[in-house]
Amino acid sequence: MTKFKEEDVYIFNPERECMSREDLKELQLRRLKKVVKYAYDNVPFYHNLYDEAGVKPGDIKTLEDIQLLPFITKDDLRKTYPFDLQAAPKEDWVEVHSTSGTTGIPTVAAYTKKDIGIWGECTARGLASVGVHKKDIVNVAYGFGLFTGGHGAQYGAQKIGALAVPMSSGNTQKQMNFLKDFPADFLCCTPSYALYLAESFEKAGMDPKAIPLKGGLYGAEMWTEEIRQKLENKFGISAQNIYGLTEVIGPGVSTECHIKEGMHIAEDHFYPEIIDPKTLEVLPEGTEGEIVFTTLTKTGMPVIRYRTKDITSINYEKCKCGRTTARMSRITGRSDDMLKVKGVIVFPKQIEEVIMSMDELSPAYQIIVSRPGTLDEIEVQVEIDQANFSDSLINLGEFKKTIAKKIKEAIGIGVKVTLAEPFSLPRSEGKAVRVIDQRDFS
Ligand code: ZN
Repeated sequence: MTKFKEEDVYIFNPERECMSREDLKELQLRRLKKVVKYAYDNVPFYHNLYDEAGVKPGDIKTLEDIQLLPFITKDDLRKTYPFDLQAAPKEDWVEVHSTSGTTGIPTVAAYTKKDIGIWGECTARGLASVGVHKKDIVNVAYGFGLFTGGHGAQYGAQKIGALAVPMSSGNTQKQMNFLKDFPADFLCCTPSYALYLAESFEKAGMDPKAIPLKGGLYGAEMWTEEIRQKLENKFGISAQNIYGLTEVIGPGVSTECHIKEGMHIAEDHFYPEIIDPKTLEVLPEGTEGEIVFTTLTKTGMPVIRYRTKDITSINYEKCKCGRTTARMSRITGRSDDMLKVKGVIVFPKQIEEVIMSMDELSPAYQIIVSRPGTLDEIEVQVEIDQANFSDSLINLGEFKKTIAKKIKEAIGIGVKVTLAEPFSLPRSEGKAVRVIDQRDFS
């Protein structure tokens, strides 16, 4: 890392981000009581849910009393599609966003003016922690449209007063031209797209470090420390993680500071809990489990105890950066992503870590799960990174065996490794599709 300067990063809202835990809890309780009553009074879904559970808004007297309330899941959001979970009157809605719906009915969320303000505040906190100031240009290469990524980053940049360039994703040649000719100071996109941009610069004979970027805020997909190392080495800038989901508000629910020891949750707006996804029990601090969020201030579509399916853990200790807000660790998996192959549970991330740890391989890869006969098979397609591939590794057969051995050590079952031609595997211009499951479960 060459271009990172610690004096560039700052705390956007010290009053909130550094408040004492005691004051924060008081604020959270006040807001929790309010949102539960607001949802109960304005959303028939919550009214019925709480009546059935025998709980009334007035029963919430402490933060722990949140445990009296039932969880809600994506299924509930689908059942109330499109707008039955909205609490604010329609004339107060100013914007609508939606999930892609690739796994079923999409989740639609309407935002009030107040919600858009909260969202901008949260992403501004994240951008400040990478070092975005008023004088800066922020290249937003997340998708715009119904997807929350692009808009969230833009509102944050504008809240700071910086110039947001709404590049959106795709059109890579244009992105490269803009990054060179209209030099952005910061890049916001998915980590896989940032890697693709770096590769595209290299392919065009340019060192990505020559781009005058000062920092990158990457999210909207799961990534690993190995990808961070690659991104930081390629661009020579700090790569920080931003997390969020449409159901809660979009990106900015939590963001990583430059210390990089977890993502600070905007706890004054989003109340987190970690539960055991099987028993639904709330787990003690530091334990890994599924993260559940309650929106404390959102008025359009409040979600109360929403199960995200994202697996992480929370640390409540004060951070070295000075913030007191809780930090969640990098998402280590999703119960949805979990693959069961030959009866063994495999997270694609485990395979990715192996690939990213090998300099001889490019970051593009694909995992194909099939069942040619009665047994499952995993094929991992990888590409050699020509720049780092030394002639001493000319024995490709041996090299494939080495990769297969490392993957087997990581996941516990054998895989078939296929070497693909350089630049032949699909690159994503949005969220990467890494796993193709060809098995027929019908
Ligand atoms: Zn911090």
